[in-house]
Amino acid sequence: MPGRLQHKVAIVTGAGSGIGLESSILFAQEGANVILADINLEGAQRGAALIAERFPNVKAVASKTDVSKEADIKGVVDLAVKEFGRLDVMFNNAGIMHPEDDNALNTEERIWDLTMQINLKGVWWGSKYAILAMRENLTDEAKGLHVGGSIINTASFVALMGAATPQLAYTASKGAVLAMTRELAMVHAREGIRINSLCPGPLKTPLLMDFLNTPEKRDRRLVHLPMGRFGEAVELAKAALFLASDDSSYMTGTDFKVDGGLSSAYVTAL
Ligand code: NAD
Repeated sequence: MPGRLQHKVAIVTGAGSGIGLESSILFAQEGANVILADINLEGAQRGAALIAERFPNVKAVASKTDVSKEADIKGVVDLAVKEFGRLDVMFNNAGIMHPEDDNALNTEERIWDLTMQINLKGVWWGSKYAILAMRENLTDEAKGLHVGGSIINTASFVALMGAATPQLAYTASKGAVLAMTRELAMVHAREGIRINSLCPGPLKTPLLMDFLNTPEKRDRRLVHLPMGRFGEAVELAKAALFLASDDSSYMTGTDFKVDGGLSSAYVTAL
């Protein structure tokens, strides 16, 4: 059985941990050559080594990439084209939730700017250079390879709902990712480039668990979760695989929620 990403080339940002790491592994398992891009090179290298060990039929390359720097994003897209000749999937997934991100009164401008630089500008640049590379895929039609490509931008359930436990910069950055993604999807729909957002619910990854560092903070959230548990990174990776693959060929501009029902909840079961 050919994999769902056979012969495809993917870049995953934030690939050293959590959703990015699990997605890189799953993409490789489904036949893609993967570039694992992360500001934390050791994390990306560990992921690439794991893929090399488990899936010798594909290649995994680690890249030290800071998504808040345009030159780094251009560099990693250039690397994909140089190493593998094309780019089919761009998963703009890296993001931060800063411990000093708070409400409108307490959040400092430097925290706001840093959050926007990584969570929003990083996604813009990732989309920009991916689109430029994916346009070249049109020339590969004769080889029977998928034309265009798939861009997936990680937003969050907080882009859709308000929380009385505020992280204003984070929430605003993710709302902007959703809006930007819809517009990108419309502009590039006729080029065969599909662009979707992924909206995870609260997950058991370092990003959230480091933030919810007491049982009280975790319980404050758990009571609102219909399924009574945090999600797992691999549950998001499976959704990212669907958006990355041709299985989602008629989907673009969507806010793809994988949130355990959270955004549909009013009163949850006890
Ligand atoms: P994680 O902390 O496990 O992984 C994030 C990775 O991003 C880390 O490896 C980190 O080194 C990397 N990173 C941070 N800044 C970077 C930068 N400037 N350039 C490149 N890489 C950088 O987190 P995760 O839970 O897997 O989060 C992935 C995405 O999912 C983020 O965009 C996050 O906002 C989003 N998200 C997470 C949750 C959750 O509950 N964990 C919920 C909704 C959305």
